[in-house]
Amino acid sequence: MCELCPPATARFSRRRLMISAASLTLAAATSPLMPAWAEEPLVQPNPNAIAPDAALDRLMKGNARYAANAPEQRDFSAGRAARATAQYPIAAILSCADSRVAPELLFDQGPGELFVVRLAGNFVNDDGLASLEFAVKVLGVPFIMVLGHSACGAVDSAIKVVQQGITLPGHLPGLIDAIKPAVLAAEAKKPADLLAAATEENVRLNVQRLHDDKPIVSEALAAKKVGVAGGVYDLATGKVTLT
Ligand SMILES: [Zn+2]
Repeated sequence: MCELCPPATARFSRRRLMISAASLTLAAATSPLMPAWAEEPLVQPNPNAIAPDAALDRLMKGNARYAANAPEQRDFSAGRAARATAQYPIAAILSCADSRVAPELLFDQGPGELFVVRLAGNFVNDDGLASLEFAVKVLGVPFIMVLGHSACGAVDSAIKVVQQGITLPGHLPGLIDAIKPAVLAAEAKKPADLLAAATEENVRLNVQRLHDDKPIVSEALAAKKVGVAGGVYDLATGKVTLT
């Protein structure tokens, strides 16, 4: 059961509140003793208006359920009508396009709970950044995670280009250029596993890019309205490790 989607009972209670508010307003018009606030319409906080730490906690607990092969049972039809009118995602995920990395599954979240931007190599480009800014500014997501993963073909290709000096066809050089700084930074540390190190470095650099984004993400970070972190998903274990 999706805890963020208003169930039928919540809709009824909201209706009751609206009726109560209408009654209060009516009473205010007839009673000089009614305080002014009673005339204000009752406003329910958005269900994703939670602290960044709470959003991260939900993601990591969801990942633990996924890794243990114990996902929540979901009724996808429940909340469908509510989702048709609004969305309240608890996090935005910038993940790789890799078919083995499915954010909603690996964080055990239902429809409407994650705002996902995906492209091979999970790096921040202008269009992806605009999507994340929309998530923060318009949808009010309290958390962004940059999610790399083990055995990433995009990062591996960037390593091969750097080490072998090959040129890839089509639009692939642009993608490689975006990942290359992570490869160079990882190489300088002479790690035992360059692919793993470059993957982590790529996550770290793109988390930094989000921190530096002005004005939307940096201001939301300063106001503690959003949190940003990086993680690496292990294809073999199903577990996400924060970087
Ligand atoms: Zn990948």
